[in-house]
Amino acid sequence: MIEGSLDWLKQIGGRPDGMSVDASGMLTLTGVPVDRLTSLYGSPLFVTTEQVIRENVQRLRDAFSSRWPTGAEIFYAIKTNNCLAIRSLLSQEGVGGECFGDIEYRATCEAGVCRENIILNGSDKTESALAAAVQGNSIINIDSLDEIAVLSRLATAKRPVRVNIRLRLAPKELDTFGASFFKTGSSASESLLSAKWGFSEDAASDVILALRDDPKFDLLGYSAHVGRFTNDPAAFHVVGQELARFTTAMKARVGFWPRVIDLGGGWPRLREPESRASEVNPHDIEDYAEAMTSALRAGLHGPLPRLFLEPGRYLVGNAVVLLSTVTTTRSDVGRKWIHVDASTNLLMRIETSRSWYNLLPASRMTAPPRNVATVVGPTCIPSVLGVDRPMPDLQRGDIVAIPDAGMYAEVLASQFNGMPRPAGIMIAPDGNIDLVRRRETYEDIYRNHKIPQRFAEQSAVARKSLP
Ligand SMILES: *Cc1c(COP(=O)(O)O)cnc(C)c1O
Repeated sequence: MIEGSLDWLKQIGGRPDGMSVDASGMLTLTGVPVDRLTSLYGSPLFVTTEQVIRENVQRLRDAFSSRWPTGAEIFYAIKTNNCLAIRSLLSQEGVGGECFGDIEYRATCEAGVCRENIILNGSDKTESALAAAVQGNSIINIDSLDEIAVLSRLATAKRPVRVNIRLRLAPKELDTFGASFFKTGSSASESLLSAKWGFSEDAASDVILALRDDPKFDLLGYSAHVGRFTNDPAAFHVVGQELARFTTAMKARVGFWPRVIDLGGGWPRLREPESRASEVNPHDIEDYAEAMTSALRAGLHGPLPRLFLEPGRYLVGNAVVLLSTVTTTRSDVGRKWIHVDASTNLLMRIETSRSWYNLLPASRMTAPPRNVATVVGPTCIPSVLGVDRPMPDLQRGDIVAIPDAGMYAEVLASQFNGMPRPAGIMIAPDGNIDLVRRRETYEDIYRNHKIPQRFAEQSAVARKSLP
């Protein structure tokens, strides 16, 4: 038995992210009670809060621009959450696009981003994606020699192709931060060295020599996405130091000084499911901005390049709540289970990366937790959303809300067990609600399947009589 009540919102960091609790104990999002949302749009349901995304943009922009005299430009990594409504909202906020491949490039364009404000990434980009980027005068973060050959062919006399060189940064000093995030089992620096991306110092100097005097290319600078592998700002400082050291070494070696440094994404949030822990991150975006920019300012002895950022998780992670509905509760062998209608196939990083999500008793936010329960989804794998979580007594029809479903959730969601992917809605600052993705149907799941005619004929006669 657990005594007393829990202030759930305080427990998840005290930053409401548009969340509040009404007099009846119901969680509200931008003032709208969540039971109203599920009764209007069904369950499970992805709910995006517009205002949170706008605030995230502002805060990230301020954190870097106030620490970097030549300013910082933001390019949203659409892989994090490919919702076109979110992408359009970010376009309104003046956020450029970071894309991988043809489809993301097209989606980013169609959601209102000017092609010149798009960065194309990828370890082995398709010729069609490169052609689109060349035609659109987008920025290409070069990641292989083959790609340079293709670009040489695609370049037109009209203007040079804007490129950065993606670097392979793997400073030994990162090993003090542990490598538990990486699945390779070796050290952090070894993991980064063995990953497929980027050019080492020797390889990069050859690329610089090849591109610098080629009129087909406009070499802007470097791309240096390392990504989030820890919440420790000191690790970001180390990456910044390494980047400055690399830049300085290249200046001495081949005389190149960048106009742009693209720091990539990976900027951690207050709540980071990927940290695999319930603890709220004690660091804010300003700490990461300070760690990175101070290292760069101290180490770069030359004109300061423009900073590019490619945030994904930071802009959208906390802006989406996944609402689910309790379907069954059971007690047996001294344990309790709460079954909800959302499975881990909507939060795949629980299965693939042991991500840890908060689970809020959204329809009983003021009821005291009575027990610990394991919260599970309906699919025919264990589908454990959370083990031994303190929960009030919940019944069929109650709502469980899962914050931080804005990053790497919908985009990784599968239709396993014939589960249609949920609807998505967006709530405007005035409480207005828009459907931004309709719930899938049987037809959506089977749209591209074809039964060969010979089986279709057979299945008519495959009837058996069984007891
Ligand atoms: C994934 C990715 C990002 C975004 O990463 P977040 O951790 O979501 O911020 C940015 N740039 C590149 C190249 C990426 O692969």
